[in-house]
Amino acid sequence: MNPPKPEQILPLLAELYQTTASQNEGRVASYIPQLAKANPAHYAVAVCFADGSQASWGQADLAFCLQSVCKPVNYCLTLEEHGEDKVHQHVGFEPSGQVFNALTLNSQGLPHNPLINAGGIMCCSLIRPQLKLPDRFEAITQFWSELSGGSPPGFDNAVYQSERQSADRNHALAYFMRENKAFPTDTDLEETLELYFQCCSLTLNVQDLAVVAATLAQGGKNPLTGQTLLQPRTLRNCLTVMATCGMYNFSGEFAFKIGLPAKSGVSGGLMLVVPGLMGLALWSPPLDSYGNSVRGVAFCRELVNRLPLHVYAPKP
Ligand code: GLN
Repeated sequence: MNPPKPEQILPLLAELYQTTASQNEGRVASYIPQLAKANPAHYAVAVCFADGSQASWGQADLAFCLQSVCKPVNYCLTLEEHGEDKVHQHVGFEPSGQVFNALTLNSQGLPHNPLINAGGIMCCSLIRPQLKLPDRFEAITQFWSELSGGSPPGFDNAVYQSERQSADRNHALAYFMRENKAFPTDTDLEETLELYFQCCSLTLNVQDLAVVAATLAQGGKNPLTGQTLLQPRTLRNCLTVMATCGMYNFSGEFAFKIGLPAKSGVSGGLMLVVPGLMGLALWSPPLDSYGNSVRGVAFCRELVNRLPLHVYAPKP
């Protein structure tokens, strides 16, 4: 069957935004004061289709910090720079089955996958390590601009400052990985953590994030600029780890019930990729016990209940 058209999908997205907005469970992240201050009522959804058409609902032009939503993009950068063999000498492929910041490594002493904290820190160590820190950060923001079709990401300095001041666990993870000789030789641990905190503090609104998701949905080709930004293998690897590991220790249930590549972050952001069709971005700060946005997950669940988008759903 032909995939549904934007004009068929848009009324459904508008309806799901309204129905899921009434979900009032969950609590905003509180591990840093800046996130604890988030407004639990904020809720925004945006979509970008393969033809570049876009729509949004709610506070769609408010930017929020990416937190773990930065991780798939950093993973793509490492794959483009080094190729998968080198990258996966330093990070695994398996869901960890544990919370995103668990102090644990796999049986080879590596982070379980690129989308939990340990793996996110490892990916930062692999991004342009020969350059100075400002240039490494600029390479990352430049890539976000290309992925989102031209809008440079913002930076939340208050979030960044508090990330680095409340970072005992992330330091512990970094030292644990260094003890296990997981990092590339010559890795500067402090610089790597700095880069990680900076990436978590990048900000985007859902409209721009939906374009990033649509780029992932369209074989790495940005639907607004027509620029191809990812090699086919990078895209395949990124979508695979998003599908298996993108929602922390809810990833198995998300794959079972929703069956689409996604990535969430503790600020309540969520990027959902519907390959070949569209990219969606959702933002709602209250989180469930896994650290995923309550309204975001509810929206995804309703979407696949209403349309056969689950990757293994029989297509009528
Ligand atoms: N800044 C957060 C941390 O490192 C990111 C984690 C997340 O979004 N789950 O703990």
